[in-house]
Amino acid sequence: MKGIDHIGIAVNDLDSASATYERLLGKPRYKTEHVEAEEVKTAFFSCGDSKIELLESAHENSTISRFIGKRGEGIHHIAFQVDDIREEIRRLKAAGFDFSVEEPRVGADNKLFCFLHPRKTHGVLVELCQEIKEATDRRGKSFD
Ligand code: ZN
Repeated sequence: MKGIDHIGIAVNDLDSASATYERLLGKPRYKTEHVEAEEVKTAFFSCGDSKIELLESAHENSTISRFIGKRGEGIHHIAFQVDDIREEIRRLKAAGFDFSVEEPRVGADNKLFCFLHPRKTHGVLVELCQEIKEATDRRGKSFD
């Protein structure tokens, strides 16, 4: 685990929540994205090395709308950045964690992601995310 990539917050309305977080963080969102496969609209804000991801449901029966129906708006997940998502999945399964979806999928912000089941993480929905390789390569090797 390299660090916290982002914190996901479930919101009723992406635009009004974005306005709130713009005021809070003192800067505009840098990206808005509709991820059809996940039935979600997202807005991203950078904050130091981490990000805030606002999530609005794009469908009545999506994961986000069910979450808000049960618990209201609020923190939905914490995402950890990893170098090799498949390797981390193997490591965490061997360590006794469960996954809601084991095969990593392509999600918002050009990332591969998967979710651990919150029953083994004390009620917190944990996401693993890995930068998609081509993107990493396009940015060059100057990071190491
Ligand atoms: Zn996320």
